[in-house]
Amino acid sequence: MLTAPIGIFGGTFDPIHYGHLRVALEAFEALPLAELRFLVARQPPHRDTPSVTAEQRLALLQQAVAEQPGFVVDARELHRSGPSYTVDTLASLRAEWPTTPLCLLIGRDAFGALHRWSRWQQLFELAHIVVLTRPGNWPELSPELSAEVTTRQLPTAQALQHQLAGGLWFQAVTPLAISATHIRALLAAGRSPRYLMPDAVYTTIVTQGLYRAGHTHPCSTDTDISRK
Ligand code: ATP
Repeated sequence: MLTAPIGIFGGTFDPIHYGHLRVALEAFEALPLAELRFLVARQPPHRDTPSVTAEQRLALLQQAVAEQPGFVVDARELHRSGPSYTVDTLASLRAEWPTTPLCLLIGRDAFGALHRWSRWQQLFELAHIVVLTRPGNWPELSPELSAEVTTRQLPTAQALQHQLAGGLWFQAVTPLAISATHIRALLAAGRSPRYLMPDAVYTTIVTQGLYRAGHTHPCSTDTDISRK
């Protein structure tokens, strides 16, 4: 008998916003999941705007999910040295939960690039993949990914409960055209991102002056490349 599935939602969360939080909650309830773990990735070095440290992104995420039962912040990718591959993260989660289905949640934009992630086919040996709808005109899936959809797509979300890994499910969620890129651009231009994220996150960003033009962190730990 398998235990109820655990969800894994990875991202740079730079910063966390309602686009992440609302779709996460809808998936949490719809699948349903026993818990949803938010995994903060390290940040690629080629950022377009001034940015914040991984620890600051983590702190904003903790503020955002603190009051939602079942939402957990998982900092394991920040604690590991060397490049951070999702396949290794899933292996470490699998070792902790050998009899629990794992569901890797990814937005439709990120799913379109899955075939470029390190050892991407192994992801299906470790977890199910749940693709969340996201507004935008996304390119057609590559032939490799289309083939995976053909062979792995499950008939119902309930089927996620009956096997440990290997399935693919497309979860429709409320379309919210919010992105961290847009939020960073607003802040860099001196405009307000209020109401695109929880108030607590907004207040911290404003009081600490995060993401403002000229805001830099000499002790930033975000120099490693995060490779999917
Ligand atoms: P950026 O604009 O910096 O690329 P982002 O807003 O896309 O950031 P990420 O931290 O890169 O946020 O995303 C983490 C995960 O959340 C990804 O799988 C992404 O597809 C998904 N996601 C982000 N925003 C939304 C949204 N508005 N609706 C659905 N999924 C989303």
